[in-house]
Amino acid sequence: AFSADVVPQAPEDPLFGLMAAYRADNDKNKVDLGIGAYRGDDAKPWVLPVVKKAEEILRNDPNINHEYLPIAGLPDFTSASQKVILGADSSAIQEKRITSLQTISGTGAVHLGALFLTKFYNTSSQKYSIYLSAPTWANHNQIMSNVNLPTTTYPYFSANTKGLDFDGMLSALQEAPEKSIILLHACAHNPTGVDPTDEQWKEIAKVMKQRHLFPFFDCAYQGFASGDLNRDAWAIRYFIDQGFELCIAQSYAKNFGLYGERAGCFHFIAAPNDGAETAKRVGSQLAILQRSEISNPPAYGARIASLVLNDPKLFAEWEANLKTMSGRIMDMRHALRSKLEEMETPGSWKHITEQIGMFSFTGLNEKQVAKLKEESHVYMTKNGRISMAGLNTRNIDYFAKAVDKVVR
Ligand code: PLP
Repeated sequence: AFSADVVPQAPEDPLFGLMAAYRADNDKNKVDLGIGAYRGDDAKPWVLPVVKKAEEILRNDPNINHEYLPIAGLPDFTSASQKVILGADSSAIQEKRITSLQTISGTGAVHLGALFLTKFYNTSSQKYSIYLSAPTWANHNQIMSNVNLPTTTYPYFSANTKGLDFDGMLSALQEAPEKSIILLHACAHNPTGVDPTDEQWKEIAKVMKQRHLFPFFDCAYQGFASGDLNRDAWAIRYFIDQGFELCIAQSYAKNFGLYGERAGCFHFIAAPNDGAETAKRVGSQLAILQRSEISNPPAYGARIASLVLNDPKLFAEWEANLKTMSGRIMDMRHALRSKLEEMETPGSWKHITEQIGMFSFTGLNEKQVAKLKEESHVYMTKNGRISMAGLNTRNIDYFAKAVDKVVR
């Protein structure tokens, strides 16, 4: 029944394939700039000190057991997550027009939102597409097609300026059919590292309001991008202040270093009038979707995050840990740019310090990327994206010289 024409061999996930190739390489200078996971200056994964503390507290808590969490997840976790993303004084929280479910990290939150929109936003007679930025996190396409939510794209990255194609983006939004769903990266856009400025966000919100477009924010890097949780949530909070009805996928993978624990949240925020009643109804349907897919979410990562989020002292330590990670990445951006400029490597490199977050879109082309791998054992995605966290004081010279060589 499952012959190759029915079940063809699927291609390997490009990113995970790249990781395997890196592991198989025995060169002592090899550099891994592929996967978006934080590494310390020693090139090793970093367990946040505040996470270690929370783990210790959990280990010594006699009340911890392995019972199921509720369908919507750990209540202390979801309510604290609302405050982290919207701000503790948010009108949406006060007016109870938010409903939140703990999800399988950010991916699960994007999926749950997409599934909900397919079932309850789209009808048999009217199907709205979700607009994804060009380019976007590759998994967005797969997640949407998995639930049959039609996708289309809006221009985002300008290859010329290596910055935002703001005019292209705005005109696409202006031309999008009313009520279309627009997926927006809340901060630290993956893969480009290019974010709109506050003024540009205001323009985007204005057009989206005029066109009755529905915002779906994907927030995978809050606090990790700038080191400031509030700064990185600015766009989301601005949209809430403008009275949008919207949803948010929130991930704690990067900002807590809880990648494998799958801690995240999906939030639906109803419009101001009559919002509490809408939020309650939406929440009831989300719970049914959640039950059929995962029954209830995993406990461990949410317990760690919840302990930290609900304790002011631990929270402050978390903020310091965020500054450590974002600060090291910013140092690497400055170091890389100045090394390339010192060597007078052809081209402009100022985008390396202008881009933000885990990634930099270097502008290197596919051929140069292939050459970097063959000649210098440097691993990065074909589109020229590098994970900044893979650079450190020991390999940055080597990497800059390797780039210089392939660009000349
Ligand atoms: N969304 C974006 C834009 C991402 O870059 C990522 C992670 O790379 C995610 C969502 C989800 O990650 P996770 O499921 O590990 O939280």
